[in-house]
Amino acid sequence: MNYYSTHRTVPEVDLKHAVTKGLAADNGLFMPERIERFDPSFFDSIHGLSFQEISFEVARKFFGEDVEESELRKIVFDTLSFDCPVLHVQKNIYALELFHGPTLAFKDVGARFMARLLAYFLRGTNTLVNVLVATSGDTGSAVANGFLGVPGIHVYVLYPKGKVSAIQECQFTTLGQNITALEVDGNFDDCQRLVKTAFLDKELNEKLTLTSANSINVARFLPQAFYYFNAYARLEQRDKELIISVPSGNFGNLTAGLVAKRMGLPVSRFIAANNENDIVYNYLKTGKYNPVPSVQTLANAMDVGDPSNFVRILDLYENNHEAISADIAGFRYSDDEIRAIIKKVYDQCGYLLDPHGACGYQSLEDYLDDDQVGIFLKTAHPAKFTETVETIVGKGNVPLPAKLAAFMKGKKKSIPLDNEFDIFKQFLMSKE
Ligand SMILES: *Cc1c(COP(=O)(O)O)cnc(C)c1O
Repeated sequence: MNYYSTHRTVPEVDLKHAVTKGLAADNGLFMPERIERFDPSFFDSIHGLSFQEISFEVARKFFGEDVEESELRKIVFDTLSFDCPVLHVQKNIYALELFHGPTLAFKDVGARFMARLLAYFLRGTNTLVNVLVATSGDTGSAVANGFLGVPGIHVYVLYPKGKVSAIQECQFTTLGQNITALEVDGNFDDCQRLVKTAFLDKELNEKLTLTSANSINVARFLPQAFYYFNAYARLEQRDKELIISVPSGNFGNLTAGLVAKRMGLPVSRFIAANNENDIVYNYLKTGKYNPVPSVQTLANAMDVGDPSNFVRILDLYENNHEAISADIAGFRYSDDEIRAIIKKVYDQCGYLLDPHGACGYQSLEDYLDDDQVGIFLKTAHPAKFTETVETIVGKGNVPLPAKLAAFMKGKKKSIPLDNEFDIFKQFLMSKE
C-alpha cells in the first residue's frame, strides 16, 4: 500500500518510508492511498472475536500488503498485551477505557505498535533511527515506554517546562537507556514546532535518520482504529444508533475513528470534545479554521492551538465542511465545567473521570437522545492527574495504580533546552 502526502506535491511512498520519515517531504501528512471496507458480515461475527483478533483483522486492511501475516499478527498481539474494555457508566453512556497499558493512556496502543513496526523494518540493517517526539504530557511517556530498549532507536522527548504533571514527567524522565528527555523553555506548540522544523532541515536529515512518533506518524495514527472496532464489538446495546465522543487535542484519535467509520464501522456520528482550546469547535460552527496559540487548561493533553491531524480530516472529506460537520459534532468545556463534571459523576455513580474523559462524558450527556447510545473514550487514568482530581473529589479518593507508583520512584533526568531551533539542531548534530 502506498501513502500520499496531504499536500500532494510529492510522489507516494511505501509504508517503510512513511514510518521511518514520519512527515512527507512537502511537510504534508501521510495518508493511505486506499481505505478498505470490511464486508458487512464481519460486523455480524465481530462480537465473537477477541480484541487482539479484531485488531489483527483491522491491521491486515492497513498493513497486510507490506508485512508478512505471521509478523503482523505478532506485532498486533504483542502491542495489545492489555485490554481496552467498555464499561457502563450510567443511563445510555459507556466508557471505552483506554488506560490499561503500561503508561495508563491511550497512546500506549499507537506507540507500542509503532515501536514494533519500526523494529521490524530496521531488522538486519545497522541504521540508527532518532525518534523525535513533542509532548503535552501523555505522548512522551507512551512513546518513551513503547520504545524503551528497542535496538537501533534513540528517542528524544521534548516537553514544555512546568506544563506537565509530576507523574507524567516521571514517566519519561526516569527511564534512561535510549530515552533522552529535553525540557523546553516554552509551551507545547513550541515543542511541536521544534520537532517539525527538524524534520524539514536538510543538513540535519543528511546527517541523521529522524522520525516522528507523534500521531503524525501513520504507524501510530492508524492502529488507533483498533479499539473503535473493539468498542463496537463489546457494546451490549447494539440496537441503537451509536455516537462516539473523543476528547481531542491533535485529533489523531478522532481521525482514526473516522477511518474506522470509512471501513464500515457502524458509528452514526462522532463528537469532538474539547477544552477551551476550541479551534475545531469553531471550525465546525463556522467553516473557518483559525489556529491560535494554545491556552493552558486542566485537560492539558488537549491544549493544542493548531491540531496537527486536522489536515487529515480535511483530506478525508475533501475539504467539505458540510460533510465534516455531518460526521462530527463539537462540544467544549471550561475548567470550571470540567471540575463540576468530575464531581457530579463521582457523586452520582462513584466513577472517577480524568479531566479529558470528563469532556467526553459530558458531551454525550449533552448530545444523546433516548434512541442513541454513546461511548466516550476515556483517554487516561484519573491518577495521572491526581493533584487536579483530588482537589475535586477529596484527598485520598484517587488510588495510585502500582504501575504509576513504580515510575514515581525513579530519578528524574532531563536536559534543559532553549526554545530556539538552532540550539536544538546543534544539540542533535553533536550526537551520534
Ligand atoms: C493525547 C491525549 C488526548 C488527545 O488525543 P489526540 O489524538 O491528540 O486528539 C486526549 N486525552 C489524553 C489523556 C491524551 O493523552
